[in-house]
Amino acid sequence: MKIVWEQSAYIGNAPVFCTLCGRRSYPIRGRRNQLLLAVIYDPQGIACGEACRDCVAAGPKGIQARVHDRIESFRSKIADLESLGIDHIETPSLEEEFRLHQQDAAS
Ligand SMILES: [Zn+2]
Repeated sequence: MKIVWEQSAYIGNAPVFCTLCGRRSYPIRGRRNQLLLAVIYDPQGIACGEACRDCVAAGPKGIQARVHDRIESFRSKIADLESLGIDHIETPSLEEEFRLHQQDAAS
């Protein structure tokens, strides 16, 4: 991965989401008042998102740690979703919902 400061391809000062840590990030102002974003390139040289200032400042070791943490967090979220058991889903019946509304009206 390679990170390069480049002139923002977006219009205005709109925030982007850091591909590495997921946090919101605003472009910085360059010396000639242009808006700059830290663009991430994969090993094939394809641009694949932007990095926030904190991630850029964290350096290679810091970025590795941040990305590992994020991968772990995604894995645990995936496990949580898988454990919900979506093969068999029971939703409340219309009668149950109707009874709820009647209770609301009565109280
Ligand atoms: Zn970041």
